[in-house]
Amino acid sequence: MAVTDFPPAGPVATALADFDPAALAQLFAAWGYKPSHAARVLRAFYASGDRVTSTAPGLPRGLVERMRTGFVPSAATLAVRQIAADGTTKLLLRLGDGGTVESVLLPDFRTDRAAGCLSSQVGCALGCDFCATTKTGFKRNLTASEIVEQFLALRREAHAVGRKLQTIVFMGMGEPLLNLGPVLAAVRRLADNSLGALGWRQITVSTVGIVPGMDALTDTGLNIHLAVSLHAPDDATRARLLPMAKHFPIADILAAADRFQARRGRPVTIQYCLLAGVNDSPEHAHQLAGLLGPRRMHINLLHYNPTGLSLSGIVYQPSSDQTAGAFAAVLRAHRLVAHFRRARGPEIDAACGQLRRRTAAPS
Ligand code: SF4
Repeated sequence: MAVTDFPPAGPVATALADFDPAALAQLFAAWGYKPSHAARVLRAFYASGDRVTSTAPGLPRGLVERMRTGFVPSAATLAVRQIAADGTTKLLLRLGDGGTVESVLLPDFRTDRAAGCLSSQVGCALGCDFCATTKTGFKRNLTASEIVEQFLALRREAHAVGRKLQTIVFMGMGEPLLNLGPVLAAVRRLADNSLGALGWRQITVSTVGIVPGMDALTDTGLNIHLAVSLHAPDDATRARLLPMAKHFPIADILAAADRFQARRGRPVTIQYCLLAGVNDSPEHAHQLAGLLGPRRMHINLLHYNPTGLSLSGIVYQPSSDQTAGAFAAVLRAHRLVAHFRRARGPEIDAACGQLRRRTAAPS
């Protein structure tokens, strides 16, 4: 954010998380304070989540007061917390304009680590038929600060249970590549050594296959991971599940993934959610193996958390263990790397968008 944008126009008030060190230094200078305070303020903010960094010692009283009145308390506050027996913690965060988003803490099998799942939009416009998020439609893109504050909220949750938030994936509500600017601004702050202090490789952006966004991500040169939600090995099946698939054929998506992989030199992850009787037959597995066989991409096989009646009137169910095992066996017989991602927190509203829908008057 440039100083000339402060206070910002539009419905979302300014929070400290809106700023990177250079922009905050510029603002402080414009307010008549030393720009060098900015780095200390942001370091303390990322360490504590305190909006005006009362934890940053030695700040001029006038500057603290200016921040207190100039910034909203936070870009996102906790509205609901659900904790499952396996420790999966789902947060519903309320934004400054009353909108809500979900963020999830996923405990690792290592007892001191956890992963975080972040949202990039309020709702989603893409209409994936098995997804709870899209049932309430699309409201707006999240700002970088709202994304950063999800990260800070999850890190607080992790610390509270003695874990370190080790990795972040943009796989919550929304399509991150349709909100690329704020997502990248947030990613840069999370990976900044003096701010979020995550490694680039600890950050994954997951897309349903927005080809121009994938290429834009490749062009940034950022050393993050890319995951592609494929969910079907042929365009016809995929278009029934993901309406946007009509715009981006699988061949184009995989070509864009190839370009990312070639530039990064590390495998793209293919996400494949197994849906009973829809995309989980041995034929589907052989087709998928045919697509991915020549590539070095890893496959994550996802267990489906049912979300009730879909937009097209279908009640999707997860594949049985036997069917899922047979599917994976076909892929592995083709020497593909395929892992199951554990079902997490099934007794809470674990599927993306469920908690928000269940909460009264989601906005
Ligand atoms: S699966 Fe992701 S991209 Fe598809 S509708 Fe849901 S949130 Fe949007």
